[in-house]
Amino acid sequence: MLTRLFKKTKSENFSTFVHFLAVFTGIFVIMTVIILNVLRYGLYTSVDTSLEANSQNANDYVTMSLLRSYEGQSSSSSTDTTSPSSSSEAKTYRDLFKPSTTANTSFLIYDKKGNLLNANLFDVFSTASNIKLNKKNLGQVYAIKGVGNDYGLEDSYHAITVAVDNDFYKDAAYVTIVVNTTQVESTNDRYIKIIVVVMLTFWIISVFASVYLAKWSRRPIVASYEKQKAFVENASHELRTPLAVLQNRLESLFRKPQETILDNSESIAASLDEVRNMRILTTNLLNLARRDDGITPEIEILQPSFFEDIFSNYEMIAEETDKTLTCVNHVSRPFKSDKTLLKQLLTILFDNAVKYTDSGGSITIEVETTEKNLCIKVADDGPGISDANKQKIFDRFYRVDKARTRQKGGFGLGLSLAKQIVDALKGQIVVKDNHPKGSLFEVKL
Ligand code: ADP
Repeated sequence: MLTRLFKKTKSENFSTFVHFLAVFTGIFVIMTVIILNVLRYGLYTSVDTSLEANSQNANDYVTMSLLRSYEGQSSSSSTDTTSPSSSSEAKTYRDLFKPSTTANTSFLIYDKKGNLLNANLFDVFSTASNIKLNKKNLGQVYAIKGVGNDYGLEDSYHAITVAVDNDFYKDAAYVTIVVNTTQVESTNDRYIKIIVVVMLTFWIISVFASVYLAKWSRRPIVASYEKQKAFVENASHELRTPLAVLQNRLESLFRKPQETILDNSESIAASLDEVRNMRILTTNLLNLARRDDGITPEIEILQPSFFEDIFSNYEMIAEETDKTLTCVNHVSRPFKSDKTLLKQLLTILFDNAVKYTDSGGSITIEVETTEKNLCIKVADDGPGISDANKQKIFDRFYRVDKARTRQKGGFGLGLSLAKQIVDALKGQIVVKDNHPKGSLFEVKL
């Protein structure tokens, strides 16, 4: 079912899912094992500790048991003078009773042959009296299972057997101290069931979490892979055309060895143009690729006069291309930015304005500083950019009119470079309609 779930997506998605699920499963298994072990360990520790402690007082218990049997026989007569308790002066009845204060605890006194001597005393539970003497592993705690009780059910015990040698109760040879663990175990079983069900539920949730995480974690990788692929495809496509043109022209020159360079000057000039274009393209590609690793701007304090030199260069270009350029510098204070990146950004926007404005057109560049920002506006009265294209023009290799822009020497990389620079300077770039016509690029840094 899960494989089918992933059929639509890539198989790498499935392997990521398997990794996530394996990690989750590992965590849940380790957690379950730890919790169950802690539970099991804690379950018997207090029982076993009290058994071991009580086993130290086994002999006292035998004395006490004898005392009780005397009490039972002659309840009216004083036990002080006749009973063995007078001999064990240091221990009072209360002291002696201490070892058996743990709930569900019975002291079973056996003779050498394994006959239970105190079966009828009130502190021996009826089921416990069914327990046989076990002389193996004296002084060590062991578990007894399946002791039938009065209700036809089976009880479990933890027990410890010690040998005794009592001066007053000569028949007593062994004492087995038993603690009924049936109830503790059934409670524990219930806990185990709850824990297993909870863990299983969370494991099932983790299956869905893994599906989600696998998709989510691969999303940026897939996006960047697709972008990279498109970039390489576009780049090779862009290089293929000038290379094909060059190949054709060179081949035709090769076919006419008797002709002079002058005869073919037109063809050679066109070839050189293509080579020049390819150089620009590869430089741009290199810039983009280098900057994909992230641009680290070198921020310095720049003076308002920084723009004056740039604008004077632009004015010369505008004049050469028969455009009217108006530059407005409202920057009134020093500001912080990267000199090279800022100049590159302005040049891209100005180049485009020149490229996409017919001769006689006018271009306006306006720069100003607000309290926090440096704002740049580059407007032209060219053909403008439709709303559908306003976002796309910042994508690599996107050109509104491929044939037309190619003539103008554009590869569709300028604005994506501009966007990269603006991002590095933590700013924003938007394109709007200029009024009455043309486009307006607004940058806020
Ligand atoms: P190119 O090198 O082709 O100019 P750009 O990334 O700089 O690449 O621009 C992408 C596209 O956006 C261009 O092909 C062009 O169609 C459009 N464009 C950019 N600037 C302008 C502008 N000032 N006026 C009209 N169209 C523009």
